[in-house]
Amino acid sequence: MSRQSAETAPASGRILPLTPAEGARITVALAGNPNAGKTTLFNTLTGARQHVGNYPGVTVEKKEGSYQHGSTQVHVVDLPGTYSLSAYSVEEVVARDYLLNERPEVVVNIADAANLERNLYLTCQFLEMGAPMVIALNMMDVARDRGIEIDPARLSALIGVPVVPIIARSGQGKAELSQAVIERARAGGGWRPWDLSYGEDIDAVLLAMVPEIEEAGFLTSLYPARWTALKYLEGDAEVMARGRQADSALAGRLEDAARKLAAHLEQTIATHPEALIADHRYGYIKSILRQGVISHHYDADRLYLSDRIDKVVTNRFLGPLIMLAILFILYHLTFTYSKVPVGWFESLFGWLGNAADTLLPAGPVKSLLVAGVIHGVGGVLGFVPIIMFMFLGIAVLEDSGYLARVAFMMDRVFRIFGLHGNSVMAYIVSGGIAGGCAVPGVMATRTLKSPKERMATLLTVPMMNCGAKLPVMALLTAAFFAAHEAQVMLGLTLLAWTVSLLVAKLLRSTILRGASTPFVMELPPYRLPTFKGLAIHTWERTWQYVRKAGTVILGISILLWAMMTFPGLPAAEQARFAAQRETARAGAPAGAPAQVETGAGELSPAARELKQQLLAIDAAQAQQALRLSIAGRIGTALEKVSRLAGFDWRTNIALVGGFAAKEVVVSTLGTAYSLGNVDPEESTPLATTLARSWTPLMGLAAMVFIMFYSPCFVTVVCIVRETGSWKWGLFSIAFNTLFAFTLATAVYQLGSLVWAG
Ligand code: GDP
Ligand code: MG
Repeated sequence: MSRQSAETAPASGRILPLTPAEGARITVALAGNPNAGKTTLFNTLTGARQHVGNYPGVTVEKKEGSYQHGSTQVHVVDLPGTYSLSAYSVEEVVARDYLLNERPEVVVNIADAANLERNLYLTCQFLEMGAPMVIALNMMDVARDRGIEIDPARLSALIGVPVVPIIARSGQGKAELSQAVIERARAGGGWRPWDLSYGEDIDAVLLAMVPEIEEAGFLTSLYPARWTALKYLEGDAEVMARGRQADSALAGRLEDAARKLAAHLEQTIATHPEALIADHRYGYIKSILRQGVISHHYDADRLYLSDRIDKVVTNRFLGPLIMLAILFILYHLTFTYSKVPVGWFESLFGWLGNAADTLLPAGPVKSLLVAGVIHGVGGVLGFVPIIMFMFLGIAVLEDSGYLARVAFMMDRVFRIFGLHGNSVMAYIVSGGIAGGCAVPGVMATRTLKSPKERMATLLTVPMMNCGAKLPVMALLTAAFFAAHEAQVMLGLTLLAWTVSLLVAKLLRSTILRGASTPFVMELPPYRLPTFKGLAIHTWERTWQYVRKAGTVILGISILLWAMMTFPGLPAAEQARFAAQRETARAGAPAGAPAQVETGAGELSPAARELKQQLLAIDAAQAQQALRLSIAGRIGTALEKVSRLAGFDWRTNIALVGGFAAKEVVVSTLGTAYSLGNVDPEESTPLATTLARSWTPLMGLAAMVFIMFYSPCFVTVVCIVRETGSWKWGLFSIAFNTLFAFTLATAVYQLGSLVWAG
């Protein structure tokens, strides 16, 4: 293994002046394998000052934050986790483009000390790029528990990069790390690619390619010359495409040389260049680790604690039972402990509604505020406590490493339905346990390499109970099955999985027929979640939900309010109700109408009766106005069909609104049914109103429909983008809605038969 010393290494394209003056600002990129602890370190370093966005043009999350070290402001970017820097996944391309285009002053390569060999593979590729690096050797506690002893100083000396041992989770080593980062930035020196040796055959070709690339200035403003050459040998589609654009003649020659080498290697040692290059990287790492960097202190046959736990937890028979028990406990705790805060939220919004009702003069502004804003947004925000408890539960499962076991166990089941182990995470992200979102779920299917398995996953993940459906399910459960909330929630979760898997099987045996691909998965060791980690995870997701309620949902609520308010009652109808009021007043005993007008003191029985009559007329008028509104007409038009599943026209309005965003179903039901309330002074919770207007069977049919009908608008857009065709977006709208309606109708009709009989 040889490498040129840094001094004689060919200069990379751009060398930045890298000595930050006092008071300067430097950019640091955090890069490493998935689960190496990047996000934990990021949070430890930057605290609360962070910004989450997307990388330009792609939907990979970009997290940025900053902290102050002395007078230097350090800007930190959390790169997506990758195992390699080839161009096989969006994450890999994003990470390496960021490094090459932005050339951060320092790259903090976070490596999992407990899996050092695998983690150093990526390190090796950073060295090939020439990144100015500091290695943060994370999870030192885990390594120690496993009897792995690492000598950071020795590693640093051999690899020529500062190495700082840390425990990101407890913040240990943080100060040393920021010091090392600043020193590395002050040392400057720019980007200096390492010349690793890949064996005689490859080295010879590289040696021939590099001068040609440098002379022609071929892509040198983007990449180091040797790196470009290496990518040609690795067959990197991304770099080759850029090369063709930059200089097609030279690109052609480089591709020829790469092909020739590939053919030669195939003939002589029956392998391809990419594999040989990887072998040499691993060889280099192994040789470093063997020189006293790493030593083990355990009996070969001692089982790690994690492995021992897994013997039970992922057992073929016990595993699924334990999983169900854990889910049940999660739902039970959620519903038990969120009751009180949910009550607070309900009273708060009830109070706000009443206040607006009494303070504002009657008219469209009041109606917009009360029905559109307070009901709409309040209806959604009222569920924040439930959502938060669920997210907390998921965070515990995720941070402890249990979620990976769920994926592992589910993989066995998934194969039967023509899906892949990687589909499991997409399902869980979409709400497979509770409260996810189909949008990241659809994007998570990118990890599936087989297009057909991916398509089947992508089309069925929206059937999971996402965070937006939770409030709807919670509302209907509270209305009709209040005594068994946890059981119903568990039942709905199992139903979602069963139905999605059956639909996936249906798709995989009809329009998406094809073979299945193998799945390998590594189980991370169990870890005790930290309070801080849980708080951050829970808060991030809850905040997303709250923000959505304040923006998207607010907009949709207002739009729906308008559709439910306009065009208003025609003059003839208004006159008809006015006449009814007159008749009622005229028919009442003398004195009663005046008493009703002023509302002062104890009402006489006659006045009370008149008041009831007038309120009933008001309610009927409101109902009629709703029925003749734009939304009401749509709902009424659909009623002929929807009756089959037990939905009346008001429910239809909510369901149509739910296509925009599922949360809206709750608030729209609230508005539609509150308009029909006979006594507005008695503000009844929506669940009670529904329990009075619907039968439990109607509630059940509505739950089934809402679970499986068309994905919300944003998800459809995402499906279109991910599949690259409108066809699949339209397919998922039409197919899911038809399917859900058939299922809901079956539930309602069969249920009616059983109940009647
Ligand atoms: P990322 O995928 O690289 O962003 O990794 P995360 O920051 O999400 O960390 C993955 C898991 O490792 C989380 O459960 C962390 O709590 C845990 N973790 C991170 N750093 C440490 C550490 O130093 N020690 C231990 N025991 N766990 C850690
Ligand atoms: Mg992360």
